[in-house]
Amino acid sequence: MKDLYPKRGANDPGNLDLELGRYERAQIPPGPPPKQEPKKRVWNFDEVFLGYDAEQAIVEATRCIHCPSPEPCILGCPVHNDIPTAMLLIEQGKFVEAANVFRATHNMPEVCGRICPQEILCEGSCTVAGYDRAVNIGKLEAFCTDWQRVHHGFPQYDIAAPTGRRVAIVGSGPAGMAAAEELMRDGHAVVVYEEWPKPGGLNVYGIPGFKLSKQILAEKAAWLETYGVQFICNTRVGKDISLPQLLDAYDAVFLGIGAPIGNKARIPGENLKGVYQATEFLVRANLPLEDLPQRIRSRPEIGKHMAVIGGGDTSMDCVRSSMRLQTQAGMTDGVVTDYYRRTENEMPGRAEERMHAKQEGVKFEFLVAPVQFIGDENGHVRELELQRMALGAPDASGRRSPQPVEGSNFRVPADVIVLALGYSPDPTIGDSMPDLEKGWKGLFKVETEFTGATNIPGLYAGGDDVRGADLVVTAVAAGRHAARAMDDYLRRLETPFKTTVAANEMAQPVPV
Ligand code: SF4
Repeated sequence: MKDLYPKRGANDPGNLDLELGRYERAQIPPGPPPKQEPKKRVWNFDEVFLGYDAEQAIVEATRCIHCPSPEPCILGCPVHNDIPTAMLLIEQGKFVEAANVFRATHNMPEVCGRICPQEILCEGSCTVAGYDRAVNIGKLEAFCTDWQRVHHGFPQYDIAAPTGRRVAIVGSGPAGMAAAEELMRDGHAVVVYEEWPKPGGLNVYGIPGFKLSKQILAEKAAWLETYGVQFICNTRVGKDISLPQLLDAYDAVFLGIGAPIGNKARIPGENLKGVYQATEFLVRANLPLEDLPQRIRSRPEIGKHMAVIGGGDTSMDCVRSSMRLQTQAGMTDGVVTDYYRRTENEMPGRAEERMHAKQEGVKFEFLVAPVQFIGDENGHVRELELQRMALGAPDASGRRSPQPVEGSNFRVPADVIVLALGYSPDPTIGDSMPDLEKGWKGLFKVETEFTGATNIPGLYAGGDDVRGADLVVTAVAAGRHAARAMDDYLRRLETPFKTTVAANEMAQPVPV
């Protein structure tokens, strides 16, 4: 099996005699990248972070003190990006070379540079954080890979000789897209099935444009297409085509369907008009309508009192989208409130996202849980009944669990309510194949996350459909791991080719 993570050797900057010593580097003040001002950004869905310019990036990268191996930032990154080497290249103005360092271990560095929770990953491990703010690794990763993409395009890769093997990827989110790129580079013909109208999965349909420009994903998909990867959109595996059909038609299949089903509140009034699941609300608020399926091709309702239930990053995406919708609708007396059952300390989402939400005018109400949604005579939600909570003993997650306070119920006005209560896997595909081993909540069981091999020969899985809802970067890592194992499997396969197409012929989609 190929080595996933290139080893750093003689060029290890940690071993170099750096012109600027570590002490001097640690004295350079941090340079946060510029952002749109809150008053301005609530008028648009454009990215909040404006990105570094070349000069700012060089200064920020020079803050890296080049720790000796093993570098904590590399260990803290789930795909083990060679961050110090990239920092040294940015410092020298070699932005394209730096981008290629990130691309050596990551299929979507411009995405994760924007949306990884760096404070608990690479930047959380950065030694400089002990003196000052950590080196802004994520934004530098986004800077140099954007620079390369905008000025030179995605890099041209040498592709292995065609193997004649055909692979189906189910889902074009981070795991599927990473697996597709790796398997394409290994010489296999790759077809990606996506249920949404455009490729990109979670990155396009789950993350708002003010955190991640959709343009990046559109360019990435178009670039993969130039290498022969085919995307078949508007096609749901498990419904429009079955998994056994795919296994018959392809030499191997990868399941990267994520955990797309929004959890329910399971309280009265959940089906009232004006109550939305987070994903539907976000896609209808954020995306061009032509990129949506016909059944939801309209903007969500905008109310004077918009309530979001939940405490993770998705809830922040929903409150911030709500603020933008109200502002753009000219609603000057609108109120957007996030309701969360613990305190801010226990909130699972990023502090940076909460800060952005507060700057944009979002209100927060902590230690409350919804009891019921109350509608009017037309079946439309108008009020939210909540109960106050108190923190008890820590639960399995290590966070103190909320306990209801007797007799503390109260009501607030709410004419739009968005549920951002976490995600569960979609059972449709698993149900179409009873022999496929599943675990908790229908998550696919795999041999190990380093192979993604299921109990069905030739069928692999990785990302949120194996781990449960997690990070984009862990899904990318899973896609890369599975692609390595799939390449090994395909090269050892002795069965005849699935079709009579010439080995170098572009993969043809299976008719559905
Ligand atoms: Fe940091 Fe995420 Fe980039 Fe890794 S992928 S270097 S964790 S921002």
